[in-house]
Amino acid sequence: KGKRAFIAGVADDNGYGWAIAKSLAAAGAEILLGTWVPALNIFESSLRRGKFDESRVLPDGSLMEITKVYPLDAVFDNLEDVPEDIKSNKRYAGSSKWTVQEVAESVKEDFGSIDILVHSLANGPEVTKPLLETSRKGYLAALSASSYSYVSLLKHFLPIINPGGSSISLTYIASERIIPGYGGGMSSAKAALESDTRVLAFEAGRKRKIRVNTISAGPLRSRAAKAIGFIDMMIDYSIANAPLQKELSAEEVGNAAAFLSSPLASAITGTVLYVDNGLNAMGVGV
Ligand code: NAD
Repeated sequence: KGKRAFIAGVADDNGYGWAIAKSLAAAGAEILLGTWVPALNIFESSLRRGKFDESRVLPDGSLMEITKVYPLDAVFDNLEDVPEDIKSNKRYAGSSKWTVQEVAESVKEDFGSIDILVHSLANGPEVTKPLLETSRKGYLAALSASSYSYVSLLKHFLPIINPGGSSISLTYIASERIIPGYGGGMSSAKAALESDTRVLAFEAGRKRKIRVNTISAGPLRSRAAKAIGFIDMMIDYSIANAPLQKELSAEEVGNAAAFLSSPLASAITGTVLYVDNGLNAMGVGV
């Protein structure tokens, strides 16, 4: 029987979330997406207008089907968390049930259960500032959107993930090595995400036999990465210095995610898997 995946953090066809959705769809999974509320309208209208049709093509020539797109804002766990200015914001007022708890409830109502949960989202309002210039507010916002959002997502979806299921997030090596320019507390947020991957693997494994892993991905020219400002330099650096001298494609990360979500990875949990052309293994640039 085919598996069902919920992928949080897809708002265009350029990022890792989209590529993961495609690899899972190619392997036969049914695809549900969680899209950030402010990006929902443009994403859904682009989908409807066929703007993504070229990027929907799967290896067998068919088009990836997206069964349903849910509005989501992963910094809010339930309605009590939502401040008035967001509630009355035009873009938010136009949709409903977009807090983490409500999305999990809607997916349960619509489909009963899922097998694969993917967290492919991050946000750090002060990402362009060095850590020494980052405000408390900016730092905590980065942790809220990029780290706790995963704890919350897994917590609320766990009861509806079928035993044997799998959960994946995306991280970046700035958590463990100095990457100047990846600021605003985003390096801290990825360190938290990786540590939480281990603790959550234990808790979700014992509780529901669910595996929890994170993929440490190399640089990709996604919308989020372009906002940081140094993505072209990071891509050039990787091509110059990594063991495999080629540009990393989002599809390679998607395929690793499909592997981790499959029974082929049934004994793998609590790990950080590098999908970065091997750059993490280098000790010095050459
Ligand atoms: P992306 O822009 O495709 O994805 C980020 C998504 O997060 C966007 O769709 C955005 O709408 C969504 N988002 C932001 N705040 C949100 C919120 N509060 N609630 C719900 N959704 C929200 O960019 P990407 O680079 O593919 O990012 C996906 C993941 O990959 C992130 O965790 C990122 O840190 C990680 N990553 C990216 C790179 C890279 O070079 N691009 C490298 C390593 C890891």
